Amino acid sequence: MTLTEKILARASGRAQVQAGDNVWVNADVLMTHDVCGPGTIGVFKREFGNTAKVWDRNKIVIIPDHYIFTADSKSNRNVDILREFVREQGIPYFYDVIDDPEGKWVFDASKGALKKQYGSHYAGVCHTALPQKGHTRPGEILFGTDSHTCMAGAFNQFATGIGNTDAGFVMGTGRLLLKVPETMHFRIEGQMQPGVMAKDIILHCIGEIGFDGATYRAMQFDGPGVASLTIDDRMTVANMAIEAGGKNGIFEFDAQTKAFVDYRCRLNGTKPSYNPVERDPNEKFVHETVVDLSKLEPTVACHPDPGQRKLAKELGNIKLDRAYIGSCTGGKTSDFLEFARFLRGKKVAIDTFGVPATPEIVHDLQTARWGEKTVWEILVEAGVQMTENAGCAACLGGPVDTFGRMNAPLKCISATNRNFPGRMGHKESQVFLASPATVAASALAGKITDPREYLPK
Ligand code: SF4
Repeated sequence: MTLTEKILARASGRAQVQAGDNVWVNADVLMTHDVCGPGTIGVFKREFGNTAKVWDRNKIVIIPDHYIFTADSKSNRNVDILREFVREQGIPYFYDVIDDPEGKWVFDASKGALKKQYGSHYAGVCHTALPQKGHTRPGEILFGTDSHTCMAGAFNQFATGIGNTDAGFVMGTGRLLLKVPETMHFRIEGQMQPGVMAKDIILHCIGEIGFDGATYRAMQFDGPGVASLTIDDRMTVANMAIEAGGKNGIFEFDAQTKAFVDYRCRLNGTKPSYNPVERDPNEKFVHETVVDLSKLEPTVACHPDPGQRKLAKELGNIKLDRAYIGSCTGGKTSDFLEFARFLRGKKVAIDTFGVPATPEIVHDLQTARWGEKTVWEILVEAGVQMTENAGCAACLGGPVDTFGRMNAPLKCISATNRNFPGRMGHKESQVFLASPATVAASALAGKITDPREYLPK
């Protein structure tokens, strides 16, 4: 069996499963957020009754992160609905925007978009927050009401996005009927060269198979090159499995996974035990791609979908209006550090927005010092508009007052993960997906630029 099949077999109480089988699996964690949480709660109450209790309050994780820093009252109200439900159900893992469990969330636009407006429990973008808060464990099943839930496959876990109806059912029963996906194999070899990042790996893979090339399939990443990828790198790759239509993306378990997961579970007092899955000699794959990391070059997914692969060096004639770094995919500490390496001592030529994925990342950037200055100060001096309000922000457009949202038909290079028309706001805007290094070089040049032209010494 493949890694995915092994997890699904275990979660369904069977010795063996194969692609195409329909199995009932037990969920280990159900995650929801402010956009889909109220809908999920509505389905749960409609189907199980107004006074029903969730199947296991310790296995539900609720993370408001999407439409948070906006004066839109309906969006603010969504966070209040989550808080009321959490109080009613006694759910311990709720990462509220405010500290007062009886309070109401109101974003104060008069304070501006840059200064932090959240309390001590707020966790930021769900997919980045889940591992930081100790909710991702190898061998487990994670369902989330968000398509990029697949990011947790970086931790040798079966993690997939589900709709509100399925999530309402899981909330009531802890179970879900799943068809076992076929598995596509991506064998990673070699080591990345300077200027190349994990984002280039996944943009390369999606370019190979197309933006629907993995529809309802598992994407398994393994091989000798994985050891050279950090946990953040693996998260970036697994995150975008869905951009090829993948049901999930999954990595092998190794010492790095163990160190990360053990540390985060200990730090947060979450369940410390887990049971990873390892590769079998008899795995059956429906597709094979070998990715030699040493041959990859800075890659861009052009408008209008993540499969429009080109090399950055081929696109220098495309002038840009904006650069954006942020999201679950591209707003991690390591993303910002690489971004800052390129921008240090220089000035961006176009509007450039920076949105860290989580408050922990804001803290990292504001405390990491390079010489006299923090990384945060270096970015601000380079002209990047950095907000402390960690969250999804303009990655998916959002209400019109969302920080960094494209409210006009602009061309933007972005470290985010999705670029279908209208994704970041205006329907006629164009989004080019790239690594933080390529976004940095392009922000400096004002046009799409291969970061190797600006490699820091
Ligand atoms: S940062 Fe973007 S991709 Fe990630 S969860 Fe938020 S909206 Fe989705």
